[in-house]
Amino acid sequence: MPDAARPPRHVLILGGTTEARRLAAALAPEPAGAPEPVLAPECALRVTTSLAGRVSAPRLPAGEVRIGGFGGPEGLARWLREHAVDALIDATHPFADTISHNAALAAATAHVPLLAVRRPGWVPGPGDTWHQVTSLDEAAAALPALGTRVFLTTGRMGLAHFAHLTGLWFLVRSVDAPEPPHPPRMEVLLDRGPFTVEGERALLRTHRIDVLVTKDSGAAATAAKLTAAREAGVPVVVVRRPPVPDGVPVVEGPEAAAEWLRGLFSAADSH
Ligand code: NAP
Repeated sequence: MPDAARPPRHVLILGGTTEARRLAAALAPEPAGAPEPVLAPECALRVTTSLAGRVSAPRLPAGEVRIGGFGGPEGLARWLREHAVDALIDATHPFADTISHNAALAAATAHVPLLAVRRPGWVPGPGDTWHQVTSLDEAAAALPALGTRVFLTTGRMGLAHFAHLTGLWFLVRSVDAPEPPHPPRMEVLLDRGPFTVEGERALLRTHRIDVLVTKDSGAAATAAKLTAAREAGVPVVVVRRPPVPDGVPVVEGPEAAAEWLRGLFSAADSH
């Protein structure tokens, strides 16, 4: 049974991803749909997920939720101390580079154990024509040689990098409507995954797409476009991920993150 004398262990999840929602659902005191507690019953948990507040109607995770920036690494370190956080899990999107670096700095300052959760990246298979680049600027530079009708799935925040490409037409898919600057010739499709191969095939065909741009987000929910592109012989510009900050341990999914927490808290109990 939970030790009544000790407050619950507080886990802060930096979220905004499917993995973060799955982890919160598995750890939160009354996990929706989870058949048994992920951690031992004597380890009472308080689970808070932090969202950046970019999306107007976010999918809310189980447990407690806070929304908005912390004010840099110092603000995050302060939050960790003021809310007595026992473990920090960076389950943000692989391309959310700034918050991941802030998390590494803040965890070191506040002496809070930190783990990063990163789903595996995509790998090209037979029949794929991939052009791997390291930034949105490089992706934009590669486009004119590859096609004229672009399916752009890198999110509305990076559209400025493509705004100078006046000779190309863009189909832009994003969760919320983009704001300028953006390419002058574009159609916006407001939608969020999961997407099906059938749906992606239809999009490529209907809009006569001849090149696709994606970040290597590695998510199953958005991988269908790669299959559809392969089938249609459409080349794909893939933006590579930034590295996880040095020294931060990484696991691939929520199950391994729960395992890490279990090890962390049982080691602390045995001292
Ligand atoms: P970012 O560039 O790494 O972070 C910019 C700033 O946003 C951070 O310095 C921080 O502000 C705030 N922030 C980011 N994530 C936060 C979180 N989970 N909780 C509180 N504040 C957060 O981040 P981004 O690429 O804009 O992504 C923002 C959010 O969208 C992340 O939660 C990420 O998981 C999600 N997301 C991103 C992408 C993508 O392609 N980048 C795709 C899908 C989902 P302060 O410095 O003030 O603390």
